[in-house]
Amino acid sequence: MKYKILIVLYIIYSGVFAQEGKQNGEGVLIDKPILKRNTTKMIWPFKEEAFVFWGGTKVEQNKHMADINQQYALDILMVANGAPYEGDAKQNSSYFIFGKEIMAPCNAKVVKVIRGVKDNIPGIENKKDISGNTIVLETTNKEYLLFAHLKENSIKIKEGDEVKKGQVIAQCGNSGNSTMAHLHLQLQNTVELLEATGAKLYFDEIVVNGSIKKDYFPVKEDFIKNIDKNLPNIKE
Ligand SMILES: [Zn+2]
Repeated sequence: MKYKILIVLYIIYSGVFAQEGKQNGEGVLIDKPILKRNTTKMIWPFKEEAFVFWGGTKVEQNKHMADINQQYALDILMVANGAPYEGDAKQNSSYFIFGKEIMAPCNAKVVKVIRGVKDNIPGIENKKDISGNTIVLETTNKEYLLFAHLKENSIKIKEGDEVKKGQVIAQCGNSGNSTMAHLHLQLQNTVELLEATGAKLYFDEIVVNGSIKKDYFPVKEDFIKNIDKNLPNIKE
């Protein structure tokens, strides 16, 4: 009788734990850090004005909300006359954001780099290398910034490097599970995308649709740029 009670208790106990932490192959519980938003101050990662194609907290404005690993992520484009490209839609170079420099939004440590993924022909996704060429930065507050779909051979840093706010780290590309050149940018609670929970990424002081906003979480259809004084003039 005693044994039966113990077994029932064990099942209830392990069931509750299973919801709170992921188990690895040996049944050891891994604590998942909780992160709701960043407290580290961030600048916008582009020197140019860019457009938020997916962003916000509802699925209608942000398709990433359907997936906890990517929730609150941003997909960023550059547009002119209402379109993300000019000329031949099958050429990456036709897309305004393709090849644009991406800056570190804050001082951080480089904790993961994926290289060697070819840029796609627009419209044809690479389902094998989901995030394509990728960088993950870790802030001093243990917040993780993931940059996905970077241009092939454009990554200028390596794992273990310390980067400074405003330092160019890569160029925007169209690698991985991407149909057109864009930056997928997200904040997350741990290094690995598939183990992560997405968190809200706030920018300290940026220009949104022509007005200065402080501590701002971008949403769909925002046009965003940095305030000039916040753009470091880094010579390389
Ligand atoms: Zn995305």
